[in-house]
Amino acid sequence: MRDFSLALDVYLKDACPLRCKYCYLRRHPHALTDSNRNLSPSVLARWIADASISKVYINVRYGEPALSARGLYSLIQRLRLYGVDVLSANVVTSAFPYSPVFPLLSTLLTTRLQISVDGPYHVNRFRVQSPKLHSRIEENIRKYLAHMRDSKISAAVTVTDLNLNRLQDVRQYLEGLGFPRAMFSPVDDGVSFVLSGRYGDYLLQSAELFADVFSRWERGESTFQAPIMAGLNSLLYGNYSEPEICNPIRRTSVFVAPDGRVFPCIHAYLLYLLDPDNYSSFLLGSIHLDSFEDVFDRFADAADLIREFRYMEVERFSEYGILLGCEFALHDFAQLHNVSTDYIYQRASPQVEKVRPAVLDLLSTFSKDELLRFGWQY
Ligand code: SF4
Repeated sequence: MRDFSLALDVYLKDACPLRCKYCYLRRHPHALTDSNRNLSPSVLARWIADASISKVYINVRYGEPALSARGLYSLIQRLRLYGVDVLSANVVTSAFPYSPVFPLLSTLLTTRLQISVDGPYHVNRFRVQSPKLHSRIEENIRKYLAHMRDSKISAAVTVTDLNLNRLQDVRQYLEGLGFPRAMFSPVDDGVSFVLSGRYGDYLLQSAELFADVFSRWERGESTFQAPIMAGLNSLLYGNYSEPEICNPIRRTSVFVAPDGRVFPCIHAYLLYLLDPDNYSSFLLGSIHLDSFEDVFDRFADAADLIREFRYMEVERFSEYGILLGCEFALHDFAQLHNVSTDYIYQRASPQVEKVRPAVLDLLSTFSKDELLRFGWQY
């Protein structure tokens, strides 16, 4: 068995019943076709087992994972039969439809459910276009909260100009629904851009607002915890010089698309769909045609291109003073590259500096283990 853990980022079925205005998949041709392409759990499990990988973290977070929940269950069972240790399953769902499989999974292994909800209906209507559907989703959320073991559930809030000025209300709303924690992330682009055309202003405003909201976060408020929404991932990725790209915590990760093609990450997949000629090196292979070894060998070619793309992203975001991602990866990154965390902060723009005290203050209320538990998988 190989001595590393694989973060398996899987897109099991390219379908979703919702029509979010800012859906990043829908903006890419062929990324969300509703054609019900299904990734085969048996072929994928065999592919991993043939590579003698000993440990796997599974992330399912594209399209609507509830539509492929049985496939996820079958994947986990098959991997276990092959002797692969499945360490956790991380699922991002809109809570529509409800799947009893996720609570069942939580009895078998660490299962984290992140539910995308942006606030009450008047805010969430860009995700869910009818009050009736929104109520159904609320019901489903309550069911998940009641049935998931250890309640490893968080709300994943996309911050747009619709809820930006109401983050405290959104927070109260989520608390009212019973969420133990939430994660706020600024929208990468999309609705705020489409609505106002002032993306840069929006991002600047977010930086200040986030700082404001978080500086008012009370240390004793343990019932509602918000791990980091504005951080340094882009910077981390942009500087990453290891072949294990997209991987600040030195875990090897691959993204597998519904048709079995393998890419370094979802961003690489989406770029490839937009421009296959220019991004051909992002296509690492297919689980139907290539061994894990072959795919792994092609990482190096893709890494240069990814790095270039990430640098562009760093520049784009640092203009606005926001670097997206998970800040808790910062310490691992600094250690790996033998630089101080201060050095990394100095490279960030003044707006990031503005957010920094509030974020650090918040961070100091958690142990690293807690952050890893609450936060993003990698
Ligand atoms: S729930 Fe996710 S996949 Fe479905 S439309 Fe919304 S953003 Fe897209």
